[in-house]
Amino acid sequence: MDRGILVVVSGFSGAGKGTLMKRLLEKYDNYALSISVTTRSPREGEQDGREYFFRTRKEFEELISQDQFIEYAQYVGNHYGTPKPYVEEQLRSGKDVILEIEIQGALKVKERFPDTLLLFVSPPSAQELKKRLEIRGTETEKSIKDRLSRAKEEARYISDYDHLLVNDDLETCVDVMHMVIQSEHHRLGRNREYVQKIRQELEAL
Ligand code: 5GP
Repeated sequence: MDRGILVVVSGFSGAGKGTLMKRLLEKYDNYALSISVTTRSPREGEQDGREYFFRTRKEFEELISQDQFIEYAQYVGNHYGTPKPYVEEQLRSGKDVILEIEIQGALKVKERFPDTLLLFVSPPSAQELKKRLEIRGTETEKSIKDRLSRAKEEARYISDYDHLLVNDDLETCVDVMHMVIQSEHHRLGRNREYVQKIRQELEAL
């Protein structure tokens, strides 16, 4: 079994990443979504162990000292981290593992694992982003303001990503994401063993 691809999906808060991930996993097989640890409080409807592992600041720091994270970062006053064991295990079993994380974390992962595929999800316009955050109804006015100001900062790093996905129509965006990830499997750099094998076979004919 070939090792899976590590895929990082980032995008402004409100770009629709959560819905996109949920739909991708419903529609297509062979993906595993990593569940992060966070110190932020659960939103209404969120469950511990499903959207996130909700932990205290102290517990989060313990996990850091035990080297349990692939990466961790701070976002609008809260801490978020990607647990290592699950990701390793799923990649080994051949699944493409998706990390839905913000930019600082994404760039750390890319530095540590250079063959990570970085995808950036963006709304059709800034106005649409603001509207989505307001309609969602889960954020306070202050949190919306902070998230929009963070988006402005994050926009500077979009060009560090490999692919841009504009999330206008959900189904189209899901299909494009699947296509991009699948085409990554065919990149020559990921198929060195096959190339070696076919060369040897041809020599032996
Ligand atoms: P939210 O509070 O809206 O669920 O997430 C805030 C931001 O934190 C989002 O951009 C989300 O992608 C990011 N995030 C979630 N989990 C992690 C993680 O494990 N590491 C990092 N670096 N960012 C994360």
